[in-house]
Amino acid sequence: MSYFEECIWIFTGLIAGSFVNTCIDRLPLQFADEELRLRLLKSSKLSPHLKKLLKDSKIKLHKPTRSFCFYCGHQLKWFENIPMLSYILIKGHCRVCKTPLVPRLFWTETMHCFCYGIFGWFFQNWIWSLFASINFSFLWILAYCRSHQQIRIKLFFYGGVLLVVNSLVYFFIGK
Ligand SMILES: [Zn+2]
Repeated sequence: MSYFEECIWIFTGLIAGSFVNTCIDRLPLQFADEELRLRLLKSSKLSPHLKKLLKDSKIKLHKPTRSFCFYCGHQLKWFENIPMLSYILIKGHCRVCKTPLVPRLFWTETMHCFCYGIFGWFFQNWIWSLFASINFSFLWILAYCRSHQQIRIKLFFYGGVLLVVNSLVYFFIGK
């Protein structure tokens, strides 16, 4: 594998890590049932901004399109959205309200960058590297969302589908 291909895997890992963070942040809110929604709306863990989005059902995986601070709602500029690097540059705090960001944002991107790079180098075959990477990201999301009943059911379903696709690729393409 050339250095160029290895760089592509590392870059893909960074983008995937950023997307996985969005999934972990937003899916539990998007798929919260009525009971959980009411509990979250009363809890002090969510900021007033997030409560408003949740109340109006305005938080989804694809909505709002741009990333924002979960505390004050500040929409992130492009330079605050660079995987790994931005977290270091803004010192793990929102630039506007100074609220500390969860370290998971950084570790998810770092681990994705590292593991996608390892998979690309180890398998020397883009199909296996791709499937190893997808499985890794899926398990990462599952690990963080496992305590949310509604998402766990959906993830188990998609996990089953992924398992079937993995097996089909192994039997029909891998040999
Ligand atoms: Zn903020």
